[in-house]
Amino acid sequence: MRSVQRGPAPNTYTNYQSARNDLTERLGWFCSYCEMPVKNMIEVEHIQPVANGGNELDWDNFLLACRYCNGVKSNSNADRAGYFWPDVDNTPLAFLYSELNIIEPAINLQKHETIFANATIMLTGLNRSPHTGNEPTDADSRWINRLIALGLINDSYNDWLTIENEAFARQIARTATGHGFYSFWLMKFAGIPLVIDAINAAFSGTYITQYNTLGVKTIRPTGIF
Ligand SMILES: [Zn+2]
Repeated sequence: MRSVQRGPAPNTYTNYQSARNDLTERLGWFCSYCEMPVKNMIEVEHIQPVANGGNELDWDNFLLACRYCNGVKSNSNADRAGYFWPDVDNTPLAFLYSELNIIEPAINLQKHETIFANATIMLTGLNRSPHTGNEPTDADSRWINRLIALGLINDSYNDWLTIENEAFARQIARTATGHGFYSFWLMKFAGIPLVIDAINAAFSGTYITQYNTLGVKTIRPTGIF
């Protein structure tokens, strides 16, 4: 789950849907949870559901979501407690991505962090995949788009091994923003700073330098759980 920085509110809103273009300008047209590109009908999602007391018009309560993440999440969470959130946490440290298991809690987390990471995965059904016992609904296209992206990621990686130059790193980053699933690109190109830096630069609003008061990068920089 990509860490994002939405920055200060650019406007005030009289209805939450009108925040969509401001959000996509800051964060790109990607679901904040599953990272799928959503070129049309991306939804303004309330982190704390309005039904549970969340502020309907507060910029800081907004993320972007695909209809599937938004639909699964619905009003399930009372508030922010017990989960990790991409706008305040270094979420890439909380999760381990792989082709086989899709997304799971990172290894070496503290016990409560593992519980939070699992709860976050379940909240939007991020690991739903056919034939795993955790089946997506027929309508849910997240796993299909993820498979398409994984094919491109593997092809890009194989080409990288023979090309390895800065221009091709930027081309990989453009492919990544076209097809989304940021964290899977970072998984594959881990340890290759030229590509990682190009990808981070290409995805709007990626927050990669969020440290706590001691200058250490922890999952939750505020330290408040
Ligand atoms: Zn999604």
